[in-house]
Amino acid sequence: MTGQVGPLRGPDTVAVPAAGERPWVTRFAPSPTGYLHLGHAYSALYAWEAARASGGTFRLRIEDIDRQRCRPEFEQAILDDLRWLGLTWDGPVVRQSDRLGVYAQALDELRRQELAYPCFCTRSRIRAEIDDAASAPHGPSGEALYPGTCRSLAPREAAARMSRGEPFAWRLDVAKASARVGTLHWRDLRAGVLTATPEALGDVVIARKDVPTSYHLAVTVDDHAQGVTLVSRGEDLFHATHVHRLLQALLGLATPTYYHHNLIADSTGQRMSKRNRAVTLRHLRERRHTPDDVWSLIGLRPQAA
Ligand code: GLU
Repeated sequence: MTGQVGPLRGPDTVAVPAAGERPWVTRFAPSPTGYLHLGHAYSALYAWEAARASGGTFRLRIEDIDRQRCRPEFEQAILDDLRWLGLTWDGPVVRQSDRLGVYAQALDELRRQELAYPCFCTRSRIRAEIDDAASAPHGPSGEALYPGTCRSLAPREAAARMSRGEPFAWRLDVAKASARVGTLHWRDLRAGVLTATPEALGDVVIARKDVPTSYHLAVTVDDHAQGVTLVSRGEDLFHATHVHRLLQALLGLATPTYYHHNLIADSTGQRMSKRNRAVTLRHLRERRHTPDDVWSLIGLRPQAA
């Protein structure tokens, strides 16, 4: 195999629920935009093992709201790869594309609370605003944040632009929303109990121009709807969880425990991505690697072994 797996700093066994806590309900929620790689395998195996080891439930959800990038052949490949790994899920496979009505209700609720505003900005407009600003706010990964251009649009102007058919997204007014709900906390199995800082990502999109929801809104609504109590995913989504915590408070949804694992790197230190074919489960299978090889490549140990 080209692309060896780099050191994994996370624990090599899954967490068990604390005394008195119910068995975990976990989930794996891939987007069918490419083949699963070893980073996905870590999230999936961790979630599956945590559910099985605690006598809990493991759910599978296909996050396919992005109609441009999602493809049926990748969804089929996800199911095949999970079966090859020996992972079985409980209940039906949930597809986000079937749940747009549920997300629309959540968006309506945020609008009713006057915490969402329409944003007509194009990417180039946002970039120009940022370039012109003396000091633009930046997010945790150094990315420039949305400067809030449309937040102060007069409702009459926004309505006029909507009725002219100008494309728009919905954004969450994060400062206003945070002020409404006060200080929030959430728990990560590695990082401990954290105070939520959703403002770090700025006014996130809650419904895109091309899709009537967004990753943040759909994932938060669905984790609640599926009764998920432990979310395991890569640490690239760590900051997103602060936003999800805020959405939970606004929409009256339950807050799971989280486990954000290290992003698994290859031997050159490159983060695994769908573009790096060498680390896809498909490629490993073709090279006659076994599911046991995958467990040891990601450094996780099944408790039953
Ligand atoms: N659908 C996301 C992805 O494939 C993962 C979302 C999550 O686990 O919260 O990257």
